Amino acid sequence: VKERPILFSGEMVKAILADTTPQRKLYAPRGANPCAPEHLALRVMRGIREISTTGCWIWGKSTSTGYGSLTVAGRNVRVHRLVLALVSGKPERDLDEVCHNCPGGDNPLCCNPDHLFEGTHGDNVRDAVAKGRLRPPVGPRLCGADNPRSKLTHGAVAEIRALLAAGETQSTVADRYSVSQSVISLIHMGKRWAHA
Ligand SMILES: [Zn+2]
Repeated sequence: VKERPILFSGEMVKAILADTTPQRKLYAPRGANPCAPEHLALRVMRGIREISTTGCWIWGKSTSTGYGSLTVAGRNVRVHRLVLALVSGKPERDLDEVCHNCPGGDNPLCCNPDHLFEGTHGDNVRDAVAKGRLRPPVGPRLCGADNPRSKLTHGAVAEIRALLAAGETQSTVADRYSVSQSVISLIHMGKRWAHA
């Protein structure tokens, strides 16, 4: 078995982040293969915005899908898939679903190979259900009051729980806080604002 070169490391990402020289678009050296793993790995690492406290390598910008993407040989490739392809040696298009397993909660923008694993579509759906989300993540998930779209505050959620415990109906409580009954139901079941 041929030893595969180390393409990514936290130290390499840190060094790139610490480099303050202006970053120009990264071209493969003349005559070199622009799809060479080393070149692609460098492109990935140059696109990382920060390393989070939980070790996530946060890609600089998200697309509408919530994932990072790069153009490789004229094709748009999701960065986390590219990373796992480079690390595993499998072509990106042959990979099944690439799932996140970030210690601080899944971050779709994370491209730390240690936080990625290949699963089947079924695995990914089961994983999503287990983690309380069914739809694919859109951007870093914001919970509760941190979510700008949230109408509720921690205080309001505490009141809602108290009202429900006191026997108020979900629809009455929903009207009072101008949210849908399904939101109240999710709070009641602890599927929303579980940390509040
Ligand atoms: Zn991560």
